[in-house]
Amino acid sequence: MANETNIFQELISHCKEYGYIFQSSEIYDGLAAVYDYGQNGAQLKKNIRDEWWKSMTQFHDNIVGIDAAIFMHPTTWKASGHVDNFSDPMIDNKDSNKRYRVDHLLEGFSEDQKALGNDALANEIIQAMDALLATNDFAGLKKLIEDNKIKCAVSKTCNWTDVREFNLMFSTQIGSVAEESETIYLRPETAQGIFVNFLNVQKTGRMKIPFGIAQTGKAFRNEIVARQFIFRMREFEQMEMQFFVRPGTQMEWYSFWKAERKKWHESMGIPAAKLRYHNHVKLAHYADAALDIEFEFPFGWKELEGIHSRTDFDLKQHQEYSKKKIQYFDNDLNPEGKPFGNYVPYVVETSVGLDRLFLTILSLAYVNEHWTKEDGTEDSRVVLKIPAKIAPTKLAILPLVKKDGLPEIARALMEDCKTAFHCFYEEKDAIGKRYRRMDAIGTPFCVTIDHQTKEDNMVTIRYRDNMTQERIPLSSVKQLVLEKIQ
Ligand code: ATP
Repeated sequence: MANETNIFQELISHCKEYGYIFQSSEIYDGLAAVYDYGQNGAQLKKNIRDEWWKSMTQFHDNIVGIDAAIFMHPTTWKASGHVDNFSDPMIDNKDSNKRYRVDHLLEGFSEDQKALGNDALANEIIQAMDALLATNDFAGLKKLIEDNKIKCAVSKTCNWTDVREFNLMFSTQIGSVAEESETIYLRPETAQGIFVNFLNVQKTGRMKIPFGIAQTGKAFRNEIVARQFIFRMREFEQMEMQFFVRPGTQMEWYSFWKAERKKWHESMGIPAAKLRYHNHVKLAHYADAALDIEFEFPFGWKELEGIHSRTDFDLKQHQEYSKKKIQYFDNDLNPEGKPFGNYVPYVVETSVGLDRLFLTILSLAYVNEHWTKEDGTEDSRVVLKIPAKIAPTKLAILPLVKKDGLPEIARALMEDCKTAFHCFYEEKDAIGKRYRRMDAIGTPFCVTIDHQTKEDNMVTIRYRDNMTQERIPLSSVKQLVLEKIQ
């Protein structure tokens, strides 16, 4: 684990050094748990988002996409339950004033015990915690912390406050004059923008159940424990899809999406062995089944995506609070030969964090390779083996030297290829150094134009993952790259 932690720290530094991720407002010493994506990061993030959007709205002919606003009428969050329930039990250490999420504090302690070989105690803690959380027994949670003498990482004392709940939503004011302003929230999830548009989309798109509405966009949560880089952020992006189904069929669709989403992650290059399902024991107030698809991050197995069977809770709540009928007329025939008629649809949700998926892909891609060359000397490189189809730059075009007509040939190739995929042109530094820079940002293909090219119109293509090279016709470069990024 210590080694994995080091690799994770290396990855974080690499992200900064190569224009993937910067700390937000870094020149002012940053803002905790808020990050900016740099030139390579923004492109990779967009490519991942595009793959998800395509897989949802293009590969499924019964799913459409929307883009709802971040601001919503405040009653939305009363109806959804977020005003009353979107909170985590927290505890403060009185000596350091440091605040902890109770589940994180106990989980951390349990992991420490496991590392010390105390498996029985580690499991006992988690079981006790789950039972206490399920019944909102805050006094019991505090006692569990105190009985096990769990200390604050900063003050190293056991001097704890009572356990309290803190709402995770950010609020702000809308309206120009103070007296007329109203408190509104920055959405903590994108799902509600879909629910309130259910009828708009169903009617204007003439959608027939079962159908889905997909959306990607920013969400905001005032996370108390904000660490592990972009795993847990205060401003992040979600990719959510709500699938509306006939009541009684939700378990079939839940199983369908459970399998479908895991398959999709595998299609993004994530090995099946690094993914697993985790069924929820304590269900949210709206769910009749829920699971996480977990990934083995460098810091352990953690949630990547949630699949939730949300029943008709959300639509019913919005119906009640808005006093508008939100129903669907199903004219398919039931076993008695009559139309199913009017009902409030049930919902199966798939919800994945774009930033978490980005971290998943980068943590798999990051490799620090060392090898012995034929002449016996040591060599190494840091490479991002990002799947070619989502790599920020697909092709680097490199004239061997800055003269003798080679840049002209390279520029012409660049003009031809850049309308089809993202290319990068560079003529500075030795070729080996340029290859290493391309490895470090994850460019899967490099093409070198040399003096021989002028004679035979052949170029050297170099493959990032195994560093092999071959001569191919200049005229076939574009097609070859296009085939490999499918
Ligand atoms: P967690 O238990 O890790 O806090 P959650 O169960 O609250 O997550 P959901 O509300 O189900 O998460 O949100 C769906 C997805 O959104 C998560 O699977 C995760 O990928 C992503 N997500 C949630 N919170 C954050 C966050 N603070 N930063 C980055 N991604 C997040």
